[in-house]
Amino acid sequence: MLIYEGKGKKLYQAEQSGYVLAEFKDDLTAFNALKKGEERGKGELNCLISQVLFELLQTHGIETHYIKLVENHIMLCKKMKMIPLEVVVRNIATGSLSKRLGIDEGRPLPFALVEFYYKDDKLGDPLLNDEHCLILGAVKSQEVLETLRESGKKINTILSEYFLEKDLVLVDFKLEFGFDEQGEIVLGDELSPDNLRLWDKHTGKKLDKDVFRQDLGDVKSAYEEVLGRIKGERK
Ligand code: UDP
Repeated sequence: MLIYEGKGKKLYQAEQSGYVLAEFKDDLTAFNALKKGEERGKGELNCLISQVLFELLQTHGIETHYIKLVENHIMLCKKMKMIPLEVVVRNIATGSLSKRLGIDEGRPLPFALVEFYYKDDKLGDPLLNDEHCLILGAVKSQEVLETLRESGKKINTILSEYFLEKDLVLVDFKLEFGFDEQGEIVLGDELSPDNLRLWDKHTGKKLDKDVFRQDLGDVKSAYEEVLGRIKGERK
């Protein structure tokens, strides 16, 4: 039974209660779905990349919703009550940060910046400060925001080091968290080039959804390159 269809995934109720099957779609959207496309095999690549990254985070003690891979484009996950925030962590200025604050694209930030955006397509996912988050009821307490911020930074450290070993620079990324049935805060969603910006360490070549956003070339081969590097197969 289909529970929910988002821009990148469909969620189905799994046989066992308390679990869902996340099916990764081939659709691509950008600019709040104003730009749309499709890339055959993209869902599978995102699912396989997410699998590796969720497993990596779990070995570092980060709780995630990931249970196991069911098919190459489907993973079994814990069912969660999602927090309606996008937690964005940035190491290098680009995208909306550069546009909004006029910081040069590619400028390294003096420290990892964590931002919260409200998940609301009608409002265009606005940037929120802590008080906005509390006023909107997106979270119940400041303590939850601190947990999200700390978790975002810890995940950033783990992923940045990991990608650097693959000659990839983790520029920025978006996380989504939820509460599991025990009421613990758990990392959900996906970890793929749809929501991580990755640049080649030597050439600066973009290997993420910016290839689609900015029409820079073949999206699939960029994502394949990321999976290849993760799996240790270099082109
Ligand atoms: N991001 C995302 N979903 C969104 C908005 C942003 O996954 O709805 C990711 C995006 O891929 C990037 C980071 O969050 O890795 C920061 O994105 P930014 O705010 O610069 O947004 P954009 O330039 O895409 O408008």
